[in-house]
Amino acid sequence: MIHQCECETCHTGLDTEVIKSHQRINLFLSRLNEPQRRWYIATLAEEANSPSDRQLALISGLDEKTIRRGKAELQEQLASVPVDRQRRAGGGRWRAEKKTRS
Ligand SMILES: [Zn+2]
Repeated sequence: MIHQCECETCHTGLDTEVIKSHQRINLFLSRLNEPQRRWYIATLAEEANSPSDRQLALISGLDEKTIRRGKAELQEQLASVPVDRQRRAGGGRWRAEKKTRS
């Protein structure tokens, strides 16, 4: 299920560029797992002229608390999130996919 942005701009429906951008963000988020979602939003939050955490929470449907956690994790180079666990969750799907294609 794709989250519908709840920000003011999307509510009023006036700025189609912003609406499209927020829809893209949510489309992308719908294919990510939970940690990836908060890291992506945290990455957006750290960019210049980025929306506030509160705004990003409305756009993404994530808690502000979750976004702050994502930022903290990125700041410490994801040291608290073992790469092994991530790999296992992905199950080496990428490699298998390449093989079937060639
Ligand atoms: Zn929006």
